[in-house]
Amino acid sequence: MHVTNDETFYISVLNSLTQQIAVIVEQGLVQWVNHSWKAFSEENRGQPDKTWRNTNYIRVCSDSVENGDQDAVDALAGIEAVIRGEEPIFYFEYPCHSPDEQRWFMMHIRPLDQNVLKHFVITHQNITERKLAEQRVEEMAVLDGLTGIANRRHFDDFLKTEWRRALRLGHPVSIALLDIDHFKPYNDNYGHVAGDECLRRVGKTLKHFSRRPGDLVARYGGEEFAIILGDTGKEVACQLAEEIRAAILALDIHHEYATRAKCVTVSIGVATLRPDAQSDMSPLDLINAADQALFEAKDRGRNRVCVQNGPTGNIST
Ligand code: GH3
Ligand code: MG
Ligand code: MG
Repeated sequence: MHVTNDETFYISVLNSLTQQIAVIVEQGLVQWVNHSWKAFSEENRGQPDKTWRNTNYIRVCSDSVENGDQDAVDALAGIEAVIRGEEPIFYFEYPCHSPDEQRWFMMHIRPLDQNVLKHFVITHQNITERKLAEQRVEEMAVLDGLTGIANRRHFDDFLKTEWRRALRLGHPVSIALLDIDHFKPYNDNYGHVAGDECLRRVGKTLKHFSRRPGDLVARYGGEEFAIILGDTGKEVACQLAEEIRAAILALDIHHEYATRAKCVTVSIGVATLRPDAQSDMSPLDLINAADQALFEAKDRGRNRVCVQNGPTGNIST
């Protein structure tokens, strides 16, 4: 391959890259930027000097810090560490959303090992596609594929977190376990596709009942759902469970093969515990208590809410 010494050749190579590239000196003054750098700053920052010559990049970052940009604090610290020679390289991923688009970038700085006057190359690269793919994978790991609400794994993690928070703050935690009544005959008679659609509608309805950051609605398994209610006592939990039962009934999903009501209903077991450091109660005790209450709701004829106020508490409807 023929390699040219022509400077314009190398500059046009750098200008052809989608990465935004700038070269600065120790004090922060910009020496050179490529086309992508100019184009991005014109579109997004309204940089007055299009060449960026005589712009101090460190000052640009400091201004952003003063404007309260937390990412700029970290970026500036990294840039200064490389300039002082404390770090050989620094890279940093940050969000930079535009009004109509989610975007992420990766900033990168390293010294240009060339001459007496120290130069540093800074690049910004759009990594939005990778970030969105990562987000999708993260979501898939915590969501149930059929209903789009949290899966069992997320439920377990969330309950542990809420339990610890309740322990620290002395709050109660409530959970409700729901099971669709006579779902086997629904599936057997209307088919699996209709069964899946029914599960989706129940999941969607439940979503409305997760209203606070300490709440979570999840698919617990098969035709069972669960709702965690952080910092919620027994009365409020029962009231909410009753509203849920009524909301599912109101969906009026026809079910000819249910024994009493001719539509889809749910049975709900509610339990409330106040974690304390002296006892050896765990989230599992709360789940078991709700499960017993659910069993009781089934036993007493379904389409109802039963509550048990702890592992040894009495069950009531
Ligand atoms: P009960 O009132 O006592 O709860 O009776 P049931 O018929 O609802 O209970 P059972 O446990 O016998 O049946 C649950 C049925 O749920 C069995 C299975 O066909 C159905 N099911 C579980 N998961 C799925 C799913 O993902 N999709 C569909 N379509 N059906 C499911
Ligand atoms: Mg079941
Ligand atoms: Mg069932």
